[in-house]
Amino acid sequence: DHGLSEADPHVRTIIDKEKQRQFRSLELIASENFTSRAVMEAVGSCLTNKYSEGLPGKRYYGGNEFIDELETLCQERALAAFRLDGKKWGVNVQPLSGSPANFEVYTALLNPHDRIMGLDLPHGGHLSHGFMTPRRRVSGTSIYFESMPYRLDESTGIVDYDMLEKSVNLFRPKLIIAGASAYPRDFDYPRMRKIADAVGAFLMMDMAHISGLVAASVVADPFEYCDVVTTTTHKSLRGPRGGMIFFRREPVLGVDLESAVNNAVFPGLQGGPHNHTIGGLAVCLNYAQSPEFRAYQNKVVSNCRALANRLIELGYKLVSGGTDNHLVLVDLRPLGIDGARVEKILDMASITLNKNSVPGDKSAQVPGGIRIGSPAMTTRGFTEKEFIATADFIHEGVKIALEAKRSVSGSKLQDFMKFIGSPDFTLM
Ligand code: PLP
Repeated sequence: DHGLSEADPHVRTIIDKEKQRQFRSLELIASENFTSRAVMEAVGSCLTNKYSEGLPGKRYYGGNEFIDELETLCQERALAAFRLDGKKWGVNVQPLSGSPANFEVYTALLNPHDRIMGLDLPHGGHLSHGFMTPRRRVSGTSIYFESMPYRLDESTGIVDYDMLEKSVNLFRPKLIIAGASAYPRDFDYPRMRKIADAVGAFLMMDMAHISGLVAASVVADPFEYCDVVTTTTHKSLRGPRGGMIFFRREPVLGVDLESAVNNAVFPGLQGGPHNHTIGGLAVCLNYAQSPEFRAYQNKVVSNCRALANRLIELGYKLVSGGTDNHLVLVDLRPLGIDGARVEKILDMASITLNKNSVPGDKSAQVPGGIRIGSPAMTTRGFTEKEFIATADFIHEGVKIALEAKRSVSGSKLQDFMKFIGSPDFTLM
């Protein structure tokens, strides 16, 4: 049996190139992070060889005594990391990632064509919260359920709770989803709970982006108000790629959430759990209870605020005017440039972030903003000083993008991309 270099030098080389790319770039994608060597060791272990359909103590295959021990430990650590009482809350650590976890909750709580309301994708929500356009039901969630997204108040960049309340009273959804992929503020859970209760709806929080911040108590805690909480494990939480579903143990609206969620995961939508991921997740959740982890999450937020303040000083317009968490959303439209061009220019300078729609955008292909996150570079040791310098680098990139746009005949994005990819145009 050979190691990777001998067995498959081609794949080894690709991995090495990706490692170099990760090493040399400023990683500012808000949903990414660098996990630890210990997590990677568990993920790359023999745990990947084992089938273990079912739950600890109730498996469909033999040989699971150590896998049972591992999954039970992972569940206990998950509850402890979020300060949950195991009598009131349970958790399923088997979801393969965030989107499957969300669909598993819908499968558990809803019948086909039941109504749901999540934050609209162009306003910061996630695809899996029911995204659809006037012409197409894009996400599976909107194909199998009736979705009516809620939106932000475009003048403030904050969720329009008054409008949400009115829409909920008309649409009468069975499930309301809090949580987002590009929202720099906390959700108002008490208000959402009240809105949900008025029509007898479940309230779910998808805390994928902020689960590390929730674990460290640096943002509001959704558990007090929600019935179900889902998360990915690889964003601010800094674990392996995976997902989790937390559920109340008491029946809610007559539904036994524990058996509904567990059955939706397996046999509803998944087969064998990825035990190597559960191993990595257990390692991550142990670390998530440490003082170092709390200090890290505090830095994620203070670094992000330093970045936001510097961008404001430089004249940028931020959606909602700032940030309370790990990301900022910059509205570039007042400058006459879009997020796609700025993303491309910064990519050439090894600054990795993503174009993002901002409230009021007309086109999803050429969105008017960029999303910038602080978790990954905080893991790599950046302090506020380096994030201020990063804002200045981004500013330089925006200036170059504006200059390049002016130099291209016509302003089509394709012409621009061709131009900046041409040998006539160099960054410096
Ligand atoms: N939920 C939210 C809020 C997200 O931002 C994301 C991914 O970015 C997901 C769910 C989906 O996670 P995954 O990509 O692991 O399916």
